[in-house]
Amino acid sequence: MGNGDGGLGGSRPITPGLGSLHDNQAVHLINADLHSHSLVSDGTMTPAALAQRAHAQGVELWALTDHDETGGLAEARATAAALGMSWLSGVEVSVSFAGETVHIVGLGFDADDEALRQGLQATRGGRRQRARQMADGLAQAGVDGAFEGALRYVSNPELITRTHFARFLVDSGVCNETHEVFRRFLTEGKPGYVPHQWARLGDAVRWITQAGGVAVIAHPARYRFSPSAEYALFSEFVAHGGQGVEVMTGSHSEPERIRYADMALEFGLLASRGSDFHSPTESRTELGSLPDLPGRLTPVWEALEHRVQR
Ligand code: AMP
Ligand code: MN
Ligand code: MN
Ligand code: MN
Repeated sequence: MGNGDGGLGGSRPITPGLGSLHDNQAVHLINADLHSHSLVSDGTMTPAALAQRAHAQGVELWALTDHDETGGLAEARATAAALGMSWLSGVEVSVSFAGETVHIVGLGFDADDEALRQGLQATRGGRRQRARQMADGLAQAGVDGAFEGALRYVSNPELITRTHFARFLVDSGVCNETHEVFRRFLTEGKPGYVPHQWARLGDAVRWITQAGGVAVIAHPARYRFSPSAEYALFSEFVAHGGQGVEVMTGSHSEPERIRYADMALEFGLLASRGSDFHSPTESRTELGSLPDLPGRLTPVWEALEHRVQR
């Protein structure tokens, strides 16, 4: 696809000297943000308010990707349409792989697909029980009432997440900010951490792809894998039909962006771009505020042209 064809594939030469990330002298022009959360999972804004904020920030192609849940997509879609902002369906599926939780973003699928709906529902299923166990652990560490406390921040009763516990612990004065809560209470080995069995990698990829979408490895630098385990993740993901990886995400440093741009090429993956925005006060990366994808990569939206609502 060339310039000026009215599609989503515009590119322009960039000024030299931006480093090896942009070594073929061009970037993909469109301001796409294909990773964000509403209060249907652990964001703080309604899907409609999030759409308005994305549009106001200059986002041209947007996807709402709530955790394990597509309940916000109808509102997101309608608001994007009213604003004249291009839109793709989205979800972020929680997966267990090699002892670690991995997130797989799905884009451009049919949200009415029955196998996808059932798979997501099963993935959400254990969250409430897990939250009770998290609260038990926190009580043993001296933090009482965490289950009821976290619930006060929950909009979707099927989606109690660690983020909701973090909000409770900050607002009740136990910690100063959410990152401190995760460090002290909610990560492996800490009192509020409960190991959990999420979806299997192959299942998550199949739910998305068989519903007509593209599966994308979210924020790969966040996982604490050895090089061989990471290689296994990418290899198995591709073997199951996965097609994309996030290169530009709020979770990646500049060296990590270069590393995963290289990985995208090595594994023949489409590249995605998304802020992972959750909240105006908690998120470090604003909607749409990321570097453009380098021209040497193929953006995931080029494979999803036919699924984009304009
Ligand atoms: P859960 O699905 O319940 O395990 O919650 C995972 C969510 O917690 C992620 O989607 C992030 O929004 C949030 N999260 C995970 N780690 C951190 C961290 N270190 N700091 C802030 N938020 C985090
Ligand atoms: Mn989250
Ligand atoms: Mn994630
Ligand atoms: Mn996310």
